[in-house]
Amino acid sequence: MFKINDNYLKLPGSYLFSTIAKKVNAYSQANPEKKIIRLGIGDVTQPLAPAIIEALHNAVDEMGKAETFHGYAPDLGYEFLRSAIAENDYKARGCDIAADEIFISDGAKCDSGNIQEIFSTDNKIAVCDPVYPVYVDTNVMAGRTGTYDADKEVWSDVIYMPCLAENNFAPELPKETPDLIYLCFPNNPTGSTIMKEQLQEWVDYANKVGAVIIYDAAYEAYISQEDVPHTIYECDGARACAIELRSFSKNAGFTGVRLGFTVIPKELKCGETSLHSLWARRHGTKYNGAPYIVQRAGEAVYSAAGKAQLKEQVAYYMRNAKYILEGLKDAGYTVSGGVDAPYIWLKAPKGMSSWEFFDYLLENANVVGTPGSGFGPSGETYFRLTAFGSYENTVAAVERIKGV
Ligand SMILES: *Cc1c(COP(=O)(O)O)cnc(C)c1O
Repeated sequence: MFKINDNYLKLPGSYLFSTIAKKVNAYSQANPEKKIIRLGIGDVTQPLAPAIIEALHNAVDEMGKAETFHGYAPDLGYEFLRSAIAENDYKARGCDIAADEIFISDGAKCDSGNIQEIFSTDNKIAVCDPVYPVYVDTNVMAGRTGTYDADKEVWSDVIYMPCLAENNFAPELPKETPDLIYLCFPNNPTGSTIMKEQLQEWVDYANKVGAVIIYDAAYEAYISQEDVPHTIYECDGARACAIELRSFSKNAGFTGVRLGFTVIPKELKCGETSLHSLWARRHGTKYNGAPYIVQRAGEAVYSAAGKAQLKEQVAYYMRNAKYILEGLKDAGYTVSGGVDAPYIWLKAPKGMSSWEFFDYLLENANVVGTPGSGFGPSGETYFRLTAFGSYENTVAAVERIKGV
């Protein structure tokens, strides 16, 4: 008789986005004349940039001719893309990352969920609270998180690092020593980030205690301030303790195209075993590569035309972010984020809970956001708005919120 992986049964239902959808549907059925503006889900809305479309078209044509047809991609990804990444994302920033330390994948969600597989199940993880839910849930599936306390909404074997206004939404070094530390900066959901010297403290700490940092830099392209690190490898010693995850979803609009990568420096070792070799083994065994066509599109992200067009695309979203940030500040809201990330994190007014404020905004302003409590207990009383809408909708949403 077969048995299931009953770790899956421990997962509390993640009803966040389905609950939001249900509430929004119910409201619009009852009020069909109301035009709802959605600034909830973290998905891009601008079309792919022309340089990317051109690369896609060219690659499609190549696939139609025997001489230029491509079958399975190389295990770690095509050299042309890995070199472009090494050059532009790392060498250009003075970081020593080689093309063969880069593993191409179909996105950072899979990589951030799969990376835990190469670690022992008795490793202890530390996460920020609130947090992108993938990090915790995939460790639950692997049996690494202990038991769930439904009242407190926490796992017994997970170290939580609260990120609140009091600490500028930056985690403090944990009292209990973790083995794996998940960090994401600029951050989803809080939109906050940390400065290079703060990240250096984390790298020094990880090297001191023998922990690995899994650094999610999906929002790197949104950084505007000078001293915010674009990659963890800007920090001394990071090659010995850090894995970096990147995505083409937010910087280039690839949410529906799918492309990402993971960096594992060869110096990152457990005794004599390099994590690079373990991940290479996993990649080779379980993954057959991102499509050739998509990897060519990824290469175009690093072309001169691609860079210029994407800079504009990011600027478009960040103009929205600024509009929300300043508009809500004027209206008396306590807001943060929105400077180095396309997310605005606000405190629900008048002592409302996250969900009370969600209902309030839906009913009175017909604006949809995301309740902070959906990202972890420390997100309670907070609320996330995204800058990924159109400028017109963003302006309209802010005016409506100001008006309630
Ligand atoms: C959007 C996002 C990603 C990217 O996921 P993809 O699978 O590459 O689309 C990764 N991490 C965080 C925190 C995100 O918000």
